[in-house]
Amino acid sequence: MVKLVCPKCGLPLEVEDDVLDGELIEHDCGTIFEVKKINGVLKLEEFNEPMEDWGE
Ligand SMILES: [Zn+2]
Repeated sequence: MVKLVCPKCGLPLEVEDDVLDGELIEHDCGTIFEVKKINGVLKLEEFNEPMEDWGE
């Protein structure tokens, strides 16, 4: 497991070692994050409900 800190509530947040870029994780506080893997470094980006636009 990789230990991160939830940017929203500040509590520990664990993700799988093999988590994929773009994977969604819901923290205990109810916030959903999208995992970003940049150069092997994991970052959490708050995920907002997609409207109809899945572009990119
Ligand atoms: Zn949280």
